[in-house]
Amino acid sequence: MTDRSLPRAVRLATPQAREVVVEVAKLHGVCIRPVPLKRLDTHTRQWETIDVPCGATMDSKCPSCAKRNKQLRMAQCREGWHLDEEPAITPDPASDEQRWLIEFRADIQAQRDQADRLGEDTTDLDAVIVGLDEEINEAGMRGNVLGRTTPKRSRSTRRRQDAPNLPKRTMTNTTLGRVFTGSDGKVYRPSLFVTLTLPSYGKVMNGTPVDPDAYDYARAARDALHFSKLIDRFVQNLRRVAGYDVQYFASVEPQKRLAPHLHMAVRGTLPRAEIKQIAAATYHQVWWPSADEVRFDGDHLPVWEDGIGYLDPATGEVLPTWDQALDQLDADDDAQPAHVIRFGDQVDVKGVLAGTPDADQCIRYLSKYLTKSISEALGRQAQREHAARFVDALRYEPCSPTCPNWLRYGVQPKGAREGMTPGRCRGKAHKPEHLGYAGRRVLVSRKWSNKTLTEHKQDRRTWVLEALGQTDEATDPHRYVWRPVPAGDANLEPLAVRLLRSIHERQRWRAHLRELEAQATGQDPSVTEGVAA
Ligand SMILES: [Zn+2]
Ligand SMILES: [Zn+2]
Repeated sequence: MTDRSLPRAVRLATPQAREVVVEVAKLHGVCIRPVPLKRLDTHTRQWETIDVPCGATMDSKCPSCAKRNKQLRMAQCREGWHLDEEPAITPDPASDEQRWLIEFRADIQAQRDQADRLGEDTTDLDAVIVGLDEEINEAGMRGNVLGRTTPKRSRSTRRRQDAPNLPKRTMTNTTLGRVFTGSDGKVYRPSLFVTLTLPSYGKVMNGTPVDPDAYDYARAARDALHFSKLIDRFVQNLRRVAGYDVQYFASVEPQKRLAPHLHMAVRGTLPRAEIKQIAAATYHQVWWPSADEVRFDGDHLPVWEDGIGYLDPATGEVLPTWDQALDQLDADDDAQPAHVIRFGDQVDVKGVLAGTPDADQCIRYLSKYLTKSISEALGRQAQREHAARFVDALRYEPCSPTCPNWLRYGVQPKGAREGMTPGRCRGKAHKPEHLGYAGRRVLVSRKWSNKTLTEHKQDRRTWVLEALGQTDEATDPHRYVWRPVPAGDANLEPLAVRLLRSIHERQRWRAHLRELEAQATGQDPSVTEGVAA
C-alpha cells in the first residue's frame, strides 16, 4: 500500500538513493539506524510499526543520535555543577519506561542468542544491547539487567583495602560545597574541574612510544581494564577528605597515547594541594588469580567435559573453578594482588565559577569525545600501529571473572561453559574501539542534579510539543504493548522510505517552530534561520 501523505519523491525513493537519503537524514538530525518496533494500541487494538531512534551514545554510524546525546549531556552537566540547593532525590518505583526497557532488552537478547546459534553476524544486535544497557542505567536502575546470579563474596577483612593516610573531615549531610562572600557582598560558589591521568608506560612523542619494545603495554592494558575501579576509589577518598557528599559529572576519554584519562566537574571546592594529595594516595588492588604464567596455549588447551567442567588436556585433572581459585587466594597469607593501579603524577586542578566562559569551556571539554569512538580518533599510521600493539596486549588479559582467557592461566572462568577459547573473548574491553576500558564514558553521581537524563529528554519533548501547540498529555502507561519486528519481516518498509518519512516530519515541525518563533518576535519567518533540533 502506498502512503499518499508522503511526497512523490519519497514514494519513489529507490535503494540506489539510499546513500543520499542517509546523508540528508544526518543533516536533519534524524536517526539513521532506527530500530523498528511493533506497537499494539490496546485501546484501538491496532498494530503499528514505530521507528525508535537507535540512541547511539558515540557511534559514528549514527551521528544524529550521538550528537543529540552530547547536547543532552552538556545540559545535564551544566544543570548540576553549581547547584545552590540540595537536589530532591526520591527513589521512585520502576516506571513503565523502565519495565519496557527491560522487556525489550530481554527480547533483543533472545534474538541475539538465536542469531549466534545460527552462526549469523550479531554485531548490530550487540550494539543495540550495549545501548539499551546504558539506557537502562540512565532510566535510574543500577547494575546489569541480568542481575547477580551468585551471592556476593565477602572478602576476608584482612584483605580489605586500607584507607590511605589522608586528612579526614567530619561528614556533613550535604552535597553542596562551600560558599564565599566577596568584598562586594556577592556570594561565590566555586567548583572544580579535575583531570586525572594514568602513569607513564614509557616515553611517548606525539602520542606514540619512542621505543615500542620498551613501552609497558602489559601494564597499560591492565590499568585500562581496571581504570573504573580506580575512579571509584578516588571518589570515596575525595568524599572522606571533603567531609560532604561530593557530587561529580565526569567523562573518560582516551589520551593521544591511548590510555584512558578522566575529566571531572566537581561540585564544591577543595584546596588544590588536597586534590593532588588524594590522587597520589589513591590506589586499587585487584584480588584476582594470577594471570602471569601461561599454562595452556596453542593446541594445548583445557578440554570441556559435561557435568565436570574444564580439564587439563594432558593429565585430566579438573581445573579450579573461579570460586575455588578465589578461596585459594583468600587462604594464602602471602598472596599478592594480581594488579595494583594508581594515577600518574599529572593531576590538573582548576577552580571554576558558575556562569563564566571558563565553566562553558570545561563543559565543552567534558563532552568533546562523546560523539567519537577511540578508533575514529586515530590519525597517523604510527598511532594505528600503537593501537594495534595495545589491542594485542589486551588479547590474553582476563577482562572480567567470566573471561575465557582465564583458561590460559589454568582457572575455569566464572560461569564456565562449553566452547570457551582463550584469546576469543567477546567482551567490550578487548575491542579496538574500547582499548581496555569497558566502563561508561560518562559518569554522573546520583545527586548531581534534580534530573536524570531521561527527564532531560522529557523536558525537550515537552518543550517541542508545547511549541507545536500540543499538550504532552499523560498517557495510560498500559496503553501500548511493544514487540520487536522479526528479522526479515516482509511488511517492514525499506530503510530509505522510513528515513524520508522521519525527515519529512522533522522539516514539518521545524517549519512550524520557525513560524511560532517569528510570531513571537514579529519577524518574517522566511528570514529566520533554523531552530536547533
Ligand atoms: Zn540513531
Ligand atoms: Zn575478556
